[in-house]
Amino acid sequence: MKTIGYAAQTAQSRLTPLSFERRALRDNDVAIEILYCGVCHSDLHMARNDWNASTYPVVPGHEIVGKVTAIGAEVSQYQVGDHVAVGCMVDSCQDCDSCYNGEEQYCRNGFTLTYGSPDRIDGSITHGGYSKHIVVREEFVLKVPETLDLARAAPLLCAGITTYSPLRHWGVGPGSRVGVIGMGGLGHMAVKLAVALGAHVTVISTSASKQADAMSLGADAFLVSKDAQAMTEAQSSFDLIIDTVPVKHDLTPYVPLLDLDASLVLVGQLGPVDGTDTSPLVFGRRHISGSLIGGIAETQEMLDFCARMNVLPECEMIRMDQINEAFARMERSDVRYRFVIDMASLQASQ
Ligand code: NAP
Ligand code: ZN
Repeated sequence: MKTIGYAAQTAQSRLTPLSFERRALRDNDVAIEILYCGVCHSDLHMARNDWNASTYPVVPGHEIVGKVTAIGAEVSQYQVGDHVAVGCMVDSCQDCDSCYNGEEQYCRNGFTLTYGSPDRIDGSITHGGYSKHIVVREEFVLKVPETLDLARAAPLLCAGITTYSPLRHWGVGPGSRVGVIGMGGLGHMAVKLAVALGAHVTVISTSASKQADAMSLGADAFLVSKDAQAMTEAQSSFDLIIDTVPVKHDLTPYVPLLDLDASLVLVGQLGPVDGTDTSPLVFGRRHISGSLIGGIAETQEMLDFCARMNVLPECEMIRMDQINEAFARMERSDVRYRFVIDMASLQASQ
């Protein structure tokens, strides 16, 4: 099947239109017409080869919402016309303890990324959601609950699940004291989800200008990370902190904010952190941890939870041909709080 998308051809190039083929349906495949795709900071990292793992051309996009257009002979859960979603994974070995436990993101044999990974069967490099169509095996397709606004649901597939999973893993519920570092795409979803789970939520931001927004999203408190006095006063006052900062940064100011046995969970930056002082870890039995997206079953649970609790991201809709400007704005932390591409604009802009 022929389709069109937007791709980076090198780490330095802007995204430009690309025509390419989607594979013919395998028996367990679902073909999807993409209606909306969220713009994640990982898309920018991958387009720029920030993680030294990109294979060009890169067609980014892993926050995908669309409509089923065809199904393979053995597909049983989806029918043509269904509204469905695809997140950051499109395959895994399905035969290790992690996969059996519904944690395909920790597949012992490596999961297949929605874009930039070799397909497990034919070895071709996967292409993501900045495109009109995608073909995905049934097990990695999610149902979009009927009551969820389709245009706004897309960012749940990465920003939503990446923050929901640690909130659930660390048992956040009524009365939990949760901090969220960085109020961007992931951060603002962390706030909304933690609030919906009943937590007391504090945004820890570099931008005092986001305070009013944080409160309107439901946060209870706001800490400016550069305000040394406020940071000192907040010591030992959190059960869980989710750190969404996308670039290399020093954890030293954040660790003392944790209470005894509490965890700072890194979901943003990959790679070395700047000289972090271990003393507050040792003296306070504090933890630094990490977390990667979430499994398929948990992603479906999150979508159903968001539909039930009416939790939706704050989105700025863009056309496909505005993607380079959107990347530039994301780099300046100038997005409130997730760009979503209306894929109807792709044909129109060709
Ligand atoms: P984003 O929308 O750009 O938000 C990042 C936020 O971090 C910014 O809004 C800003 O918030 C803060 N920030 C930016 N630069 C900073 C700096 N130099 N120092 C301190 N704070 C800074 O990005 P996103 O889409 O939420 O993604 C965040 C990170 O998560 C990216 O690295 C992405 O690749 C990663 N990610 C990880 C997973 C996973 O599974 N672990 C999944 C998806 C994405 P303030 O203005 O409030 O300070
Ligand atoms: Zn993402």
